[in-house]
Amino acid sequence: MRTEVALLRLLKKLQSLEASRDRLAIAESVVIATLEILDARFALLHGFRATSHGYMTAPLSWVVEGGESATTNLDHLDAEENHLTAEPLLEECAMAANGYAIAEESGRCTLAFAIGPVGTPVAVVEAHCDAPPSDDLRDCVHELLAIYAEHIGLLDYAELDTLTKLQNRKTFDENFDRFIGMVEQAVQRRDESINHADVDDRHCWLAVADIDKFKRINDNFGHLFGDEVLIRFADMMKKSFRGSDKLFRFGGEEFVVLLRFITAENAHIVLDRFRVAIEEHEFPQVGQVTCSMGYVQINPLLTPAEILGRADEALYFCKENGRNQIQRYEDLVAQGLIEGPVAAPETSTDLQADIDALFD
Ligand code: GH3
Ligand code: MG
Ligand code: MG
Repeated sequence: MRTEVALLRLLKKLQSLEASRDRLAIAESVVIATLEILDARFALLHGFRATSHGYMTAPLSWVVEGGESATTNLDHLDAEENHLTAEPLLEECAMAANGYAIAEESGRCTLAFAIGPVGTPVAVVEAHCDAPPSDDLRDCVHELLAIYAEHIGLLDYAELDTLTKLQNRKTFDENFDRFIGMVEQAVQRRDESINHADVDDRHCWLAVADIDKFKRINDNFGHLFGDEVLIRFADMMKKSFRGSDKLFRFGGEEFVVLLRFITAENAHIVLDRFRVAIEEHEFPQVGQVTCSMGYVQINPLLTPAEILGRADEALYFCKENGRNQIQRYEDLVAQGLIEGPVAAPETSTDLQADIDALFD
């Protein structure tokens, strides 16, 4: 493609890019633009991250010449099971000062462009071309990807908590309805399923975690050490839960976890595993830290405030009863340890008729 044409295409793409907050749509747009600029046969965008076992990648979006494209929502993938070890070329471009690597074989070439900081890119674009691109076209792709990185950075800034990089309260509020909608659909699918053998008792859960006696940590060691505990706590959450679970910092030393489609038994196991991991972790200088968690099954018929309120009640029970424990709202209600939800009064037929009349 001629550079001028490529630039024009690029400008057009940027307009659509900046208008979008949908990360998958943005990724797809970037891959398509890369493919077009390079006249590539095939292009891919990989999520990329450094782990203790080396670099891991997972394809997020790809497109083949002629326009067939696909985008994955990695939300449902298990981080540990589905991420692939980075291929040498991807790793090479991640480490390269100019964020670029090329491999040529029998007249065809594979290009890799890193997006984000050298050594720790957030993503890598891979493109398969018939010939190496001109320097100008390569620059075009670099420019596009730099703008993409900046846009993602701005999204992160708006959606993530700056200290822990978990999602923030605002993101929770904005997305919880969508999450509940997904739960509702799953419940419906389950109800409609004829084969009840594959209908299991998996549900979604909301847990509120709060660090015990955190004020004391600040008082004894200072705010900076307090912050360090929060960062480590969040990092341990990221390690302990699956990629498909949603993690939020609600503010202060309070965190929220959304667990998807697991049984009550497993919800208990994964939450308690995290509690134990925190209890057993040696926090620098501070030593032992514990946390308490209240959790509840997500009932799509309740409002977010009601769901959070129930998890909070269970958390409050933990705090009143020794801390360093997890409690399920439904269990506490069943055991009569906390008061259950107050049943909504039945709307009388007369009253309903009056209400209906108002809308006639
Ligand atoms: P409990 O076991 O009942 O939860 O006791 P607690 O001390 O953890 O609870 P409390 O709500 O009394 O104290 C929370 C403290 O968290 C008070 C506040 O100064 C501190 N805090 C809130 N946000 C931050 C922050 O961003 N950094 C640090 N270092 N401290 C924070
Ligand atoms: Mg606390
Ligand atoms: Mg608190």
